[in-house]
Amino acid sequence: MGKNNSKMFNERRGTPVPTDPLASLLKDLLTAEELAALPRGWQVIGEVLLVHVPPVLQPKKALIADGLLKLYPRCKTVMETHRIAGEYRQPVFEKLAGDGTETLHKENYVVYKLDVAKVMFSQGNFYERQRMGTVGKGEKVVDMFAGIGYFTLPMAVHARPEKILAIELNPESYGYLCENVRLNHVEDIVEPVPGDCREKTPAGWADRAIMGYVGTTQEYLPWGIRALRPGGILHYHETTPDKLVFGRPIENIKNAAKVQGRSAEILETIKVKKYSPGVWHVVVDARID
Ligand code: SAM
Repeated sequence: MGKNNSKMFNERRGTPVPTDPLASLLKDLLTAEELAALPRGWQVIGEVLLVHVPPVLQPKKALIADGLLKLYPRCKTVMETHRIAGEYRQPVFEKLAGDGTETLHKENYVVYKLDVAKVMFSQGNFYERQRMGTVGKGEKVVDMFAGIGYFTLPMAVHARPEKILAIELNPESYGYLCENVRLNHVEDIVEPVPGDCREKTPAGWADRAIMGYVGTTQEYLPWGIRALRPGGILHYHETTPDKLVFGRPIENIKNAAKVQGRSAEILETIKVKKYSPGVWHVVVDARID
């Protein structure tokens, strides 16, 4: 994530003397108020830069985008993402400068090919993707919401499970998932599966199940529990209001296990990232007996 530091103020004149490169680049083109409102951070995915532009700078966003392309010569496109929407969790965006949104993103020795305009890539999930690279060695794993391989690929590349069934509903993401399996040379481990995890998740097969979805993940818990052999590990993601963290996700897991006559032992609880004001993206690891 590109970061700008705080601006120094010139005591004599009391006006902002920009200390960050974007402000320095644009200081003769923007008013003091606009300089003070410049974005303080952005996301670089491969050769595509994503930035949020506040309302006061909307009339100048083309200028800002051109400035960012100058600061990041490796980038070919600047996009303003407005939100992530729908069942497929797709970005709603506006292209501000440059051309082309398909790119290769490299992270933790994993290559992800994706079209940033069509499929999400959450910088905030970096540590969880890295953590998934440390579990699963020699195991049978089902990734119920595989996307382009966000968790599947680091696990396959680094932990070397016996097999990962990577299930993905969105044909666009599924296409990139298949390509990314080839790009990372893990065809012998990962089997991409097109379709709905409620239909494609085998019962009682997996040592480990990843439920990397948000919004309505609790609705899919019956299939996540059923996927696991006794003693299997569940990674259950949820978007949870502050005051319900971790009580609600834990209760959801225990209730879903109980309905199937099974029990859940909570192993770990993690706050992955702040999802929105007052809401956390959390993951709870549980052993299901
Ligand atoms: N787990 C990744 C992470 O947190 O970085 C990203 C989650 S990814 C955006 C969620 C994926 O689940 C999307 O690609 C979406 O198309 C897929 N999806 C949604 N409903 C599904 C279902 N019923 N079965 C399989 N995949 C589904």
